[in-house]
Amino acid sequence: GFGTTSAKPMAAAGGAQPVGEVTPITALETAELLREAKSVIIVPGYGMAVAQAQHTVFEITKHLREKGVNVRFGIHPVAGRMPGHMNVLLAEAKVPYDIVFEMDELNDDFPATDVTMVIGANDIVNPSAQDDPNSPIAGMPVLEVWKAKTSIVMKRSMASGYAGVDNPLFYKDNNRMLFGDAKKMLDEVLTALKA
Ligand code: NDP
Repeated sequence: GFGTTSAKPMAAAGGAQPVGEVTPITALETAELLREAKSVIIVPGYGMAVAQAQHTVFEITKHLREKGVNVRFGIHPVAGRMPGHMNVLLAEAKVPYDIVFEMDELNDDFPATDVTMVIGANDIVNPSAQDDPNSPIAGMPVLEVWKAKTSIVMKRSMASGYAGVDNPLFYKDNNRMLFGDAKKMLDEVLTALKA
């Protein structure tokens, strides 16, 4: 797909536009990747809050942990729309505190991780913050989810996040897009995992 561009218009605020194609994945394929994984890092963002997907996220976490998978959560300091947004939702869903980590605590662990599951997050996992000095978010610390063996981004479309910038993560060879409402897609993943 090199040389082809997505249908998305240039981000309003400047910065380079990612080039290439995205690779979609189904809920069934997502479940297969999770089942085969030894280590998984889940990165939640604003979309998890919108979809109210935290309870299903916990059900999936419980299921995988029972199968011996090391599941952890990586929380960016500005994930969501208010300080502590993700922590509140995960606590409400009864996710154990000892598997919820701040960005700095696990950002070095992605290369040793099989699957990262990005649930309705965008700006906080945007590699252009590191790679593109002209990006409006240049210099913002980000969770390096693309360094895992496979990253899966769950969102409804190719739309940008709060900062309005395109995200080159979506176009990386080891990234897959699971398109749809986070709650609906995670329900499907859970059903497939239990089948
Ligand atoms: P973003 O806003 O960058 O991205 C959230 C993504 O969630 C969107 O791209 C959207 O994509 C997706 N989404 C929305 N609804 C759903 C749904 N129902 N199901 C699945 N996906 C959905 O959020 P992040 O958490 O990554 O980053 C937070 C941003 O907010 C940062 O830019 C931060 O600076 C800013 N901010 C944070 C504050 C805080 O205190 N935490 C305060 C103010 C701003 P799609 O539409 O394709 O589904």
